[in-house]
Amino acid sequence: MTILEEVLTLFDRRGRDQYHGESVSQTEHALQAAALAEASGAADPLVVAALLHDVGHLLDEPEDLAERGVDGHHEEAGASWLARAFGPAVAEPVRLHVAAKRYLCSTDPSYLGELSEASVLSLKVQGGPLGDSEIAAFQALPYAADALKLRRWDDAAKVPGLVVPELSRYRSQIESASLGAERRTDGASGDL
Ligand code: FE
Repeated sequence: MTILEEVLTLFDRRGRDQYHGESVSQTEHALQAAALAEASGAADPLVVAALLHDVGHLLDEPEDLAERGVDGHHEEAGASWLARAFGPAVAEPVRLHVAAKRYLCSTDPSYLGELSEASVLSLKVQGGPLGDSEIAAFQALPYAADALKLRRWDDAAKVPGLVVPELSRYRSQIESASLGAERRTDGASGDL
């Protein structure tokens, strides 16, 4: 299966799931985040990162982890899944999008007040705001700036009923951002 087929299959199977504690589905949330990235003029890999930033939630993970006070580390699961088929410009902002939330809670006084109730709840199990040394370490990471952009789109992508382009609209970006059209993700080598 190609990465594009895998992505389409995951959204087909799990995309109608509710996005944690919000009034949108996983697919609606992903499409709104991608549309915001596109509207900002982001490059293809960052648009794909926005679209797939919560792919970790579409992999096998129980729905109510945050409510039970457990962090499923969906950003790590998602980034590792993406890194099989995409470079760090896609995988790393995804890996850092929870750290970006914790960073913004520490550095932007208005940010916490803008977060949804569900996002405030999950902040606790994600470790809370970053400390001073963690703030400096985050800023030094190569994809920190992209992760912060992604985080803002993520937070805004929760509007019930918003009409945005559909998943098929992103086929070309997914293919262009992947490591090679010939690369297979089912274990077969793409080498000639
Ligand atoms: Fe999200």
